[in-house]
Amino acid sequence: MQTAQHILHDTFGYPEFRGKQADIVQTLLRGDNALVLMPTGGGKSLCYQIPALMRDGVAIVVSPLIALMDDQVANLRAAGVHAAAVHSGTPPETVRQLADDIHSGSLKLLYVAPERLVSERFLKFLDNTTVSLFAIDEAHCVSQWGHDFRPEYQQLGLLAERYPHVPRIALTATADAETRADIKHYLKLENAPEFVSSFDRPNIYYQVIEKNNGKKQLLDFIQKQMHGQSGIVYCLSRRNVEEIAAFLCEHGLHALPYHAGLSLEIRQQNQHRFTHEDNVIVVATVAFGMGIDKPDVRFVAHLDMPQSIEHFYQESGRAGRDGLPAVSWLCYGMNTLLLLKERITESQASDFQKQIELQKLNAMFDVCETAACRRQLLLRHFGEQSEPCGNCDNCLHPPAKFDGTEIVQKLLSCVYRVGQRFAASYVIEVLRGKSTDWIVQNGHDKLSTFGIGDNLSDKDWRNVARQCIGLGLLNNDMHNYQALMLTEAAKPVLRGEQTVLLRPLKREKAATKVAKTDTWLRTEREERLWQALRQWRVARAKADDVPAYVIFGDKTLREVVEKLPKNQSDLREIYGMGEAKIGKFGDEILDIVAEFVSGSLNVAQSEKTVSHQHSNPRDDELLRQLTVWREMAAKRDDVSLHAVCPEESLTDLVAFTPEQMVDLNMIYGLGEVKLGKYGKEILSICAPFSGSLNDEIKYKQLFLRDLQEWVAMKAEEAELPEFQILGKPAMRALANKLPETLDDLREIHGFDDEKIAEYGEELLEMIGAFQVA
Ligand code: ADP
Ligand code: ZN
Repeated sequence: MQTAQHILHDTFGYPEFRGKQADIVQTLLRGDNALVLMPTGGGKSLCYQIPALMRDGVAIVVSPLIALMDDQVANLRAAGVHAAAVHSGTPPETVRQLADDIHSGSLKLLYVAPERLVSERFLKFLDNTTVSLFAIDEAHCVSQWGHDFRPEYQQLGLLAERYPHVPRIALTATADAETRADIKHYLKLENAPEFVSSFDRPNIYYQVIEKNNGKKQLLDFIQKQMHGQSGIVYCLSRRNVEEIAAFLCEHGLHALPYHAGLSLEIRQQNQHRFTHEDNVIVVATVAFGMGIDKPDVRFVAHLDMPQSIEHFYQESGRAGRDGLPAVSWLCYGMNTLLLLKERITESQASDFQKQIELQKLNAMFDVCETAACRRQLLLRHFGEQSEPCGNCDNCLHPPAKFDGTEIVQKLLSCVYRVGQRFAASYVIEVLRGKSTDWIVQNGHDKLSTFGIGDNLSDKDWRNVARQCIGLGLLNNDMHNYQALMLTEAAKPVLRGEQTVLLRPLKREKAATKVAKTDTWLRTEREERLWQALRQWRVARAKADDVPAYVIFGDKTLREVVEKLPKNQSDLREIYGMGEAKIGKFGDEILDIVAEFVSGSLNVAQSEKTVSHQHSNPRDDELLRQLTVWREMAAKRDDVSLHAVCPEESLTDLVAFTPEQMVDLNMIYGLGEVKLGKYGKEILSICAPFSGSLNDEIKYKQLFLRDLQEWVAMKAEEAELPEFQILGKPAMRALANKLPETLDDLREIHGFDDEKIAEYGEELLEMIGAFQVA
């Protein structure tokens, strides 16, 4: 186990095993089999990857999807492990090379699809090969109860007979009893120990709201809580996917559609962008996700209620696999419930199967409707008891309830009097006293319940009806146009023997339901290093053509910001830094940190000047003159070039071409001291060029002058130093973005709620006035 611990640290960069990982590793090392049930993100892969590195021979990993295989292989290679996948797209030369690598003992893990593994040709090859272990990933595919049934999985039992001395491990995140039994049976793991982990995903915040205008609610959620984060939005239909993706794009978000109706090329392209770029939102049908192992997905939003808790859990579980805070957001409405019920009742399945599916659907609906802790309900579904979690909407903002007995009685009694043959909309019309032709024809305007519900709106009554369904007082008759019917449980309520507590009918203000936001990055300085590391990561990932998180996860970069490593041994203390990664990227990371510590790092600047960098002769000439001057000044004052003026300041000077002293204040890297010393000289070089500045930059220059005056005025009023009113980066960001609303303003780093409350309106006014002028 000593060695396993070392590999965990040195190769994968993690300080300790999580949960049952150590036990599982030990079991395989002993040569025993294992069945592992761990929720998505629990860390299943390491359970067989570490033994694969320690045992003789090659580990064969069965995986149902090419995307899954490729992702795992990319991760392993990034950690310096020789691993590969063979699938239909692998060129024959590569296959031959892999065979050589296996026989020479250098390849440690080989990922294959089940079809290939059970082919006689492949088995013959294995017969003459030392296999360290078989890992069967996504093992629920073996079961028809599982949601991704793959018949080929059922043949994998032959491994037990053909290779009795090779340990086998089956892994899955789906835990219901039937699936588990199937896995054991088909994979011949009856005697293998089971390692069942808690299904809790404590870093995921659960938030469920009722739908009124789903699109708008989604946009609000993303803009207010999740801006700039990558996430997945699930919709039920392809049409919705297209529509929502377009809608989000119109609102300036980076959203891409994904569904089975798109060409393979587009799908691959969109998936690639999702995994390789930051801040991309994929809007998808459930077709999306299984092969995607992106640990830094910050939110999963469901615009429609999923058909079961298993589906919901698997989909929402794609958020926050790196353990950092993430949000599962769900927007549910009656229509989806009815639609899903209809789908089930009209499907070809047996009545027995339909019953199971309806039960699963109802369980999901309960999670939406509950006023209790959502996590408690979810975990109970997976057979786990737990306390209220403190990290879901109901825990943080317990919904108030009121005694709705009388209202409910009215509804139930009206349902009864119209003969339990009409849908909710009709019953509500009767309650509200609408004399429609149909109602009159049916004589329902003569009922004692006609018009007794005039005090509530249509919407409120629908809400009551929904809650009654959730509480099990009413049922929808699927064979009869969704007619409302009373259940047994309705009787004591009608007889006045039982009170009913309802959630408020009026919507609570959305603002009170905001998730705890991540308070990590506090200072502007930290933000700058964080952004620099992220930019470096994107560039690195592009160069290597791997997803950004394969280079380093967010958690690792955060620790870099927090710990500011100075040397290789500091790096070893950082989460996620294995030897291979230190060897490959260590120096670059140390350089970035060193630059940051020395104060010369400026990201926004490099971003901003990219377009000017190689551009025109005017810029080249100005840069040349500034460079010459800097060399001269450094010699004259006997200091380093950097001490005169950092590289970044030069490019910024070219891009911005200051005309007056005040303009110089806004140049990166020129503090008071440097300005006092060199300001005049710099200005004398730049000023002649400022005439040819383009309109947009000129405009910013003018704006920044006004802004500086305004800040100076505020500072005087408040008797505070100017930087405490607004820092330079915030001022520059204001000039670049010219925000028009308070929400836009919120996007700008350095604007917290306090600042916005204090200066927001005034700044917007000023920006408005400036733009008019
Ligand atoms: P699963 O397959 O169970 O969904 P993964 O094996 O992909 O989960 O692991 C999820 C994430 O957790 C990955 O980023 C992985 O590197 C990380 N991880 C796994 N084990 C550990 C550990 N012991 N310490 C820290 N991180 C870990
Ligand atoms: Zn809770």
